[in-house]
Amino acid sequence: KIRTRFAPSPTGYMHIGNLRTALFEYLIAKHEDGDFILRIEDTDQQRQVEGAEEIIYKTLKDCGLNWDEGPDIGGEHGPYIQSQRLGMYKGYAEELIKLGGAHYCFCSEEELQKQREEQGDSFKFDDPCKHLTPEKVQAKLDAGEPYVIRQTIGKINETTFDDEVYGHIEVDVNTLDEQVLIKSDGFPTYNFANIIDDHQMQITHVVRGNEYLSSTPKYNLIYDAYGWDRPTYVHVPPVMKDEHHKLSKRNGDASFQDLVAKGYLPEAIINYIALLGWSPETDQEIYSLEELIQVFNIHRISKRPAIFDLDKLTWMNGEYLKHMDFDRYYSLIEPKLKETITRDVDLKQIAQLVQSRANTLNEIPEMIDFFEALPDYDLEMYKHKRQKSKKETALVALKEAYRVLQDCPWTSEEEIHDLLMALPEMLEMKNGQVLWPIRTALTGKQSTPGGAIEVAYILGKEESLSRIQVGIT
Ligand code: GLU
Repeated sequence: KIRTRFAPSPTGYMHIGNLRTALFEYLIAKHEDGDFILRIEDTDQQRQVEGAEEIIYKTLKDCGLNWDEGPDIGGEHGPYIQSQRLGMYKGYAEELIKLGGAHYCFCSEEELQKQREEQGDSFKFDDPCKHLTPEKVQAKLDAGEPYVIRQTIGKINETTFDDEVYGHIEVDVNTLDEQVLIKSDGFPTYNFANIIDDHQMQITHVVRGNEYLSSTPKYNLIYDAYGWDRPTYVHVPPVMKDEHHKLSKRNGDASFQDLVAKGYLPEAIINYIALLGWSPETDQEIYSLEELIQVFNIHRISKRPAIFDLDKLTWMNGEYLKHMDFDRYYSLIEPKLKETITRDVDLKQIAQLVQSRANTLNEIPEMIDFFEALPDYDLEMYKHKRQKSKKETALVALKEAYRVLQDCPWTSEEEIHDLLMALPEMLEMKNGQVLWPIRTALTGKQSTPGGAIEVAYILGKEESLSRIQVGIT
């Protein structure tokens, strides 16, 4: 059975690249009916952020990426929070020392610094402690000298592997540094903890950002030293802001929460990021999570970095809003409508007007605020070339509209429609010459959801007539 894991560090926000990794991990597992595991990697105590775990849980839940095992729901291979697993890493490291895959290092910071200065840019620590006799090591340990545990890399270690995305990878052992596995405070580094955890949790597919590609040969040597099976690796390219820059919160790029706060829907975000660096076999673009599970295929993940295109996401979000069940749509936008409009108008009718037009929820207030109050506008706005509307024709049309609408009972849109649509013939004008100024007078805007008739109906008789009156004078 396929088992994948999402192993975020709790940094307090979910950036888009991370969420995409989680999605790919979820899809790879679920496509094969496998398990998706959540593990919190919080060994870097300096980076702890209050409430960060909750953000991870909430984001995954909002996106429908439900995990099968994790800190909050437990599972057979827990605990699923690294800081609660600290007790076991040291034992594994000591075993690795016995197996020849690691060694104690007693070097001081000065020793490292000396080598750094001697070697310059191509610094690779050459650890003298590798050559200490077992007796010497024991004596130092007995004397209580501080130490770290470092990986030992031999000259003949095999370092090739096949990545599902990047293909065959071959690395010269001489380039691999003997990284710290256990720090002097006894805590494991990410480099060590991820191997032990992935093994213990029986992870079959390690899916993560390609920044780990170059470290993977070192991890493999550790798997090999223990005699464990290496997992299948799926390294994914970064999500970029443009050709040269990664998307990053630090540079002010939107995180998942930022996008939601800007009025994007989790399901649209998920759909969009599925297509960042992965492509389906057809040109279908709109996918539910269920459909993604069906069609997802590791071999269609691209090596090429994907560029995050906010316009494309905005378009996609609009597609989700337009095709959403009206009741759900209404419940989503009702708070915004109520904040913007306090007059007694039918908010559902307004919601119907905007549903086919808004791409994000946050655009809505600005689209409909004229229902609350008529903005100041300029009579120049009656001029419209294509509609052949001019100030003079506009004033004639508005006066006539005011006259005929006075007797309208206002019980349906059709009544208003029939009265207004009789005007062009009566006045020997084009439709646009009549309707353009009426809508302008009713809304004070050049572009609105809904035409003159729909808007007038929602505004009500009294308000509509008073706005037309304003428009004439
Ligand atoms: N905690 C690591 C990170 O957030 C996880 C990397 C991995 O998936 O192995 O980058």
